[in-house]
Amino acid sequence: MSTGETRPPVSGVRAGIVVTGTEVLTGRVVDRNGPWLAERLRELGVDLAHIAVVGDRPQDITGALRFFRAEGVDLVCTSGGLGPTEDDLTAQVVADFQGRAMHLDEALERRIWAILEPLLTRWPDLDADALRHSNRKQAVVPDGATVLEPVGTAPGLVVPPAEGADGPTVVVLPGPPRELQPMWGAAVETALFRDAVTGATEYRQHMLRLFGIPESEIAATMRQAREAGIPLDDLEITTCLRRGEVEIVTRYEPRYQTVYEAFDAVIRERHADTLFSDDGTSVDLQVAALLRGERDAATTARTIAVAESCTGGLLLGRLTDLPGASDYVLGGVVAYSDDAKQRVAAVDPALIVQHGAVSQAVAEALADGARSVFGADVGVGVTGIAGPGGGTDEKPVGLVWFSAAGPDGARLTRSITVPGSRTDVRDRSTTVALHLVRRLLLGER
Ligand code: ATP
Ligand code: MG
Repeated sequence: MSTGETRPPVSGVRAGIVVTGTEVLTGRVVDRNGPWLAERLRELGVDLAHIAVVGDRPQDITGALRFFRAEGVDLVCTSGGLGPTEDDLTAQVVADFQGRAMHLDEALERRIWAILEPLLTRWPDLDADALRHSNRKQAVVPDGATVLEPVGTAPGLVVPPAEGADGPTVVVLPGPPRELQPMWGAAVETALFRDAVTGATEYRQHMLRLFGIPESEIAATMRQAREAGIPLDDLEITTCLRRGEVEIVTRYEPRYQTVYEAFDAVIRERHADTLFSDDGTSVDLQVAALLRGERDAATTARTIAVAESCTGGLLLGRLTDLPGASDYVLGGVVAYSDDAKQRVAAVDPALIVQHGAVSQAVAEALADGARSVFGADVGVGVTGIAGPGGGTDEKPVGLVWFSAAGPDGARLTRSITVPGSRTDVRDRSTTVALHLVRRLLLGER
């Protein structure tokens, strides 16, 4: 390696993740372990390049492990297949892969039994022999492995390569996220794990969120920053469009702090009007804080209610997703038909006749209706054409009108044409509505 290298070295320590389970492979269960482990590894400064999702067949799990060994990674984390049933084979597969025999850990068997035995008193019909059998299976572990105490009934394992052999240390974790996550802390503490990740580089990470800006604008800003002499190659910058917002995630080694600050300053200067979050908070959390009156001493607490048409309750669902929402959410109605808009959201039917259900006037009437019907400080109205049918030249599919009305005649109303499928239109409309509420509560007009 020559001296005077200008590119930042990639972290010395690399890892792979093997997520097992046919239910995850087929998409019946959405993978919550791969992304969660990826984030934990990142925090430790371990470089992750691949997540392999494989079915329950032993040869598929072995194939993924071989791939990672060939890639030269230092650590592999697996999830799933630690249960008591015959198709739960990960411990055996990993032992074979590491060239290690298995043995019965009798003390572990007793500890698992202490967890299982109470089940026999609760369900006397359980087959005690079968239970003992599965107990024993879960206590058979590879020689030389460190056992991670069970959170459910399955112990986890940290399995080093065979004596004198090269290859990754394998951390074997259970499939259910509620078992895997609490076990991670114990895995990280083991000597085998620490040996495998010594030399990992520390990384810092920041997320900026922008709304109302195309991703291409960020690309242009990055070009400009480079031209201004900021060495962006020292940073790992990823931009991603998510639910109608642009997220800029920057990862860097501490020694590039000043480079990050220079980049951050350029974003703040060029995109002051669209940058809404610089601390990772979502618009949902910001709206909640504003409604609680917690943003600063000057803001007062407010209640909110919604009257939705095309979003069919998704906006209220999002508002009530946060714990404690009952402090400020009074309620909402889904006023889908013209008749319902009149009956449950107090919309004057003449407005619908005159302007159509998807119109500025009706969005405003829905917002006012939500306020008056629920007696809320802030009312939100959403009406649009989710598609795929129902569009016209004048009112295309994706056209959505939003209105947010507050005390003292405060009001913001806007329309946008949301691109994408019916699902996209409905989902992104909730984001737009939340941003409108945020701006109203911040006193923007
Ligand atoms: P068990 O003792 O429950 O059988 P296990 O370690 O054998 O645990 P699996 O059989 O692979 O784990 O998975 C059990 C359940 O855990 C799955 O049916 C699924 O609901 C959940 N699960 C497994 N892997 C994942 C994953 N990657 N993401 C989300 N959920 C998962
Ligand atoms: Mg299982």
